[in-house]
Amino acid sequence: MDPRRLARFPFLKEASGFLRDRGITLSDLLQEAAYRRARARGLDRVLVALEKGDRAPLEEPPLRTDAEVLTEVLAYPVARMLVSTIADPYLIRRYALTEAVWAQMRLSIEDAPFVASLAGELGLDLLGGNGGFQIHFTDFLKHTNSMREKEWKLNNQVVDGGRVRLSRERALRVLRNAVQGKIESELPLPVNDEVLEAFRRDTQQVKTILASRKERFKAEELGKVSITRFPPCMYNLLASIQNHENVPHSGRFAIVTFLHHIGLSNEEIFKVFGDVPDFAADVTRYQIEHITGAIGATEYSTPECATMKSYGLCPGGDLLCHQPGMKHPLTYYRRKPRWIMSSAATSRPLAGSP
Ligand code: SF4
Repeated sequence: MDPRRLARFPFLKEASGFLRDRGITLSDLLQEAAYRRARARGLDRVLVALEKGDRAPLEEPPLRTDAEVLTEVLAYPVARMLVSTIADPYLIRRYALTEAVWAQMRLSIEDAPFVASLAGELGLDLLGGNGGFQIHFTDFLKHTNSMREKEWKLNNQVVDGGRVRLSRERALRVLRNAVQGKIESELPLPVNDEVLEAFRRDTQQVKTILASRKERFKAEELGKVSITRFPPCMYNLLASIQNHENVPHSGRFAIVTFLHHIGLSNEEIFKVFGDVPDFAADVTRYQIEHITGAIGATEYSTPECATMKSYGLCPGGDLLCHQPGMKHPLTYYRRKPRWIMSSAATSRPLAGSP
């Protein structure tokens, strides 16, 4: 493969082989002056992802020389190591989302065979031809389950012989989800002391910006409830919504029931959802009212931890989550003030805690 393609899609398996063939060791990458530019580019990737997310502009670096190509291919593992030194679920998701959005933009100028082969590497059965693509319906379902707009429902697709027909633009949107899922599922990587030491200053810089983003987020008006008491699962869902990320239906259901049961009014819950771009206001209001029992006969309960885990909505929990009897996000919310006061709370929380 043309190495410039590896620089543009550095998550491909061949990129690892490309680096292996050059005999670059981890210590070289972390320490050698020759790779300073690659380390700086890796840091840039993470900072832009953190600050801009899916609105990060695609700034294509020059790829004229071997050195420029190598720098870009190396910047990707650097960024992944840096993200892994912090291992914050919000940072991981935001970084994966940004890389995926960049990949989608880059794929827009690639030919159909390359798009199909990249999809194959991601485990998708995608065929290209006649100006569009066809994807196996199981892959379509798997990679669009977080997209709730009608246009992504299976029953609104043209399905031919078990394959969903997609325009190029829509096929790339599905691939974006697949890239994001792949990157997210691989992080955090285990990092050793040498990596931690080499990235000490960069890690601190990213952590400071991350903390300030979370602080801004905390400061946002949520009525009478305290966001510092939120369990990691609900905190992450709220952060995703407020950062315009796609949240699966199960996640929106969970956060609406949670906000309702801790005392937010439907209007306050609506404000939390209000600026999600792909979420029509009247549908949002209807769903909130339906879930909270304002219309219909059922006031739904907040899912317990076991259900959150089965939905893939539990980021693993923090120290309080792992205390005896902790089986429900609402129990966490009720216990948090006492927990903060207790001596146990002086222990450092695991990643994911607000
Ligand atoms: S253990 Fe329960 S409360 Fe804690 S993050 Fe997971 S689902 Fe949420």
